[in-house]
Amino acid sequence: MGPTVAVIGGGISGLMCARRLSEANVRVILFESSAILGGQIRKSNIADHDIDMGAEAIHVSAPGMSALISEVGLSSGLIKSNPGMSWLWTESGLQRLPEGVGPSGPRKLRPVLRSGVMSFGGLFRAGLEPLVPRRKLRGDMGVGEYVGKRFGREVVDRFVDPVLGSLHSGDVYKLSLRAITPELAAIADRRKSIMMSRRGQQTGAPLSFATWIGGLTTLTQRMLINTGVKVKTLSPVDSVSVLPNGKYEVKTVTDGSTEVDAVVLAIPARAAAQVLRPLSHEATALLEKVRYASVATVVVAYPRTAIAGLKAFKGTGLLVPSAKGRLLKAATFVSTKWPHMDDSDVILVRLSCGRINEKVIDSLDDVELVAKLHADLVEATEIKSEPVESFVQRWPSAMPQLEIGHVELVSKIREDLAFFNGVQLAGSSYDGLGIAACLRSGARAAEACLKDLGIEKAKSVTSGS
Ligand SMILES: Cc1cc2nc3c(=O)[nH]c(=O)nc-3n(C[C@H](O)[C@H](O)[C@H](O)COP(=O)(O)OP(=O)(O)OC[C@H]3O[C@@H](n4cnc5c(N)ncnc54)[C@H](O)[C@@H]3O)c2cc1C
Repeated sequence: MGPTVAVIGGGISGLMCARRLSEANVRVILFESSAILGGQIRKSNIADHDIDMGAEAIHVSAPGMSALISEVGLSSGLIKSNPGMSWLWTESGLQRLPEGVGPSGPRKLRPVLRSGVMSFGGLFRAGLEPLVPRRKLRGDMGVGEYVGKRFGREVVDRFVDPVLGSLHSGDVYKLSLRAITPELAAIADRRKSIMMSRRGQQTGAPLSFATWIGGLTTLTQRMLINTGVKVKTLSPVDSVSVLPNGKYEVKTVTDGSTEVDAVVLAIPARAAAQVLRPLSHEATALLEKVRYASVATVVVAYPRTAIAGLKAFKGTGLLVPSAKGRLLKAATFVSTKWPHMDDSDVILVRLSCGRINEKVIDSLDDVELVAKLHADLVEATEIKSEPVESFVQRWPSAMPQLEIGHVELVSKIREDLAFFNGVQLAGSSYDGLGIAACLRSGARAAEACLKDLGIEKAKSVTSGS
């Protein structure tokens, strides 16, 4: 029998890591504190529809994604989201999010010019970007500060904040340019103009998002099939310590101790800090520096008649700039966005809330939370009915904030842990939010762990089946 590796955490990062390790004939034990695997990929049933309450879409063209989907045999059931536009809820009501606007600002100027979202002065300032002096980027800076320096603050407040800030539940002036938008950091390093660098570049096909009939748990449920990974649910790991023989002791609250040759912590940094305390006070102190935002997702069903004649529901959802001061951060019109969610009786809307430093979610009970988010939606869209059904999913301290200096912080943590052969980290707290980034992170941790054990390389996330 070869070495044994403990993978701690059964979210998508841990599942990917365990899958890749098992392919290298390593004995893998996966410890998960909750009763089910999947972590932030979890569903509920509302109005007879399976709805994702955490992550709801995969980005199909992200590196390695379609290779993994075909590897686990899920290519044929993939459902692509309907093409459609999103709204921005601005001071003048709902305005179309112009085509080509991504998390780091506009990629095309013409649709922004036509959209009416920006003032004349703001547009004029944004147009001066190629002429703004380009200073050398020292270390890191906030995405908001960088984009603001280049295009003016209006671009940040009207586009970067509602798109990127909402995605990360963060403050765009604190989110790291290097960790979150490495392509912008590369332009800054070359002291180039953003507009000139993008000139002539294809903006590519529009992002393609997808899911399956049963939601994204379809993927998490497939990840370990026929892998031989031993799964221990309801097994929260309390600590990892090193034994005199150089192996590791993994202690769970429920199950006692397990001796293993290597450990991958695929859990949030705040949880890893606790688990690694007996191993390294230095790593613990660094891990504790990562901040988290608490968020909540509320899915509401309305009678179909409630949206009759409303232009808002011609879009697939709306984004709310933080300056608006609303609890509602974003709404996805599930029945419009996904072909399989179209229903003749009800329409389903997914309402999101929670930003860093915002404590209001914790002070509201579920009934109050639904009522407040519904009131915001009524004001934005004029929807004409009370909810007939709703479900609240809270995600306390769930969204890691990859803030200024994050890349350096994580590399210091990894350097510190390198002292212990066979201790690796994976997940969104370290390598970035989103399923695609977590799959890459899990595969990378498996590869590093096998290297520590002197075993041949694991398959990378991009290597296909
Ligand atoms: C509301 C919401 C919407 C999102 N929407 C999208 C989207 O549409 N598309 C997208 O790509 N991404 C989306 N994301 C982000 C994406 O879901 C996450 O980045 C990703 O799922 C994180 O995976 P992970 O494995 O790193 O962590 P997690 O999913 O948090 O998994 C960590 C696991 O570790 C377990 N654990 C923690 N401590 C211990 C311990 N001590 N012992 C044992 N187990 C432990 C936890 O129970 C959990 O199961 C969304 C996230 C949220 C919250």
